[in-house]
Amino acid sequence: MMTGNKVKILNVDFQNTTRELLLNELTERITKGDKTFVVTANPEIVMYANSDPEYLSIVNKSDYTIADGIGVIIGSKMLGTPLPERIPGFDLMQDLLETANKNEWSVYLLGAKKDVIEKAVENVKERHPKLKLVGWNDGYFNWESSKVADEIAKKQPDLIFVALGFPRQEMWIAKHFASFNKGLFMGVGGSFDVLSGHVKRSPEIWQKLHLEWFYRLLKQPSRWRRMLALPDFIIKVLFEKNKH
Ligand code: UDP
Repeated sequence: MMTGNKVKILNVDFQNTTRELLLNELTERITKGDKTFVVTANPEIVMYANSDPEYLSIVNKSDYTIADGIGVIIGSKMLGTPLPERIPGFDLMQDLLETANKNEWSVYLLGAKKDVIEKAVENVKERHPKLKLVGWNDGYFNWESSKVADEIAKKQPDLIFVALGFPRQEMWIAKHFASFNKGLFMGVGGSFDVLSGHVKRSPEIWQKLHLEWFYRLLKQPSRWRRMLALPDFIIKVLFEKNKH
């Protein structure tokens, strides 16, 4: 399969790859110590990026933007440039944690509320006892201070997961990226809430049917407004298609 190239969907450059190929490539980069920025983008993020040029440019400057969500895959097919598969951010994070455990990599967790991150740390330590959890911080720190970034720059972890929700997580990574020498930085949205057990992931059958978004809507009805990004996204893709 052709990979390594990018596919543009509503101005966002997606990596044309599979979960397995991506994991291999990221593992190689981490082993070499290459600094890496990964964005996991769903239709909501694509729509937001189209309304905020600064955010769009941050996303397109990342090393990898991956298709997190069935909507992005549908959009890519509609535009005649199909992406091979959905790579949920949460799954990629799990893959990376497992690889970190095997290779005894160092990991830093940034984001979520204090009790959530503490529980997430506990669970990660228990499930992946060989990885080195070198530090963590909740996501409610002073934005203007570089204290957390300085700590990460000093500790030089292999993996840094940033769970501040979008667009903040990508903006935080971009703001401080130049001050780091190495490490894979990835925004993981609400993933620590799942890691900590505060929010349950949908049962596997819902995931397989690509209905994870629907399960989330049923569990957290307050998210309905955010879900409107999906029909908006599809309509925008249709317009884009008819331009050509
Ligand atoms: N969050 C944070 N700091 C903030 C705002 C949010 O750490 O200033 C955390 C919040 O506690 C939650 C996550 O970021 O754990 C946001 O999750 P959400 O599901 O809203 O993000 P998305 O998946 O949409 O990016």
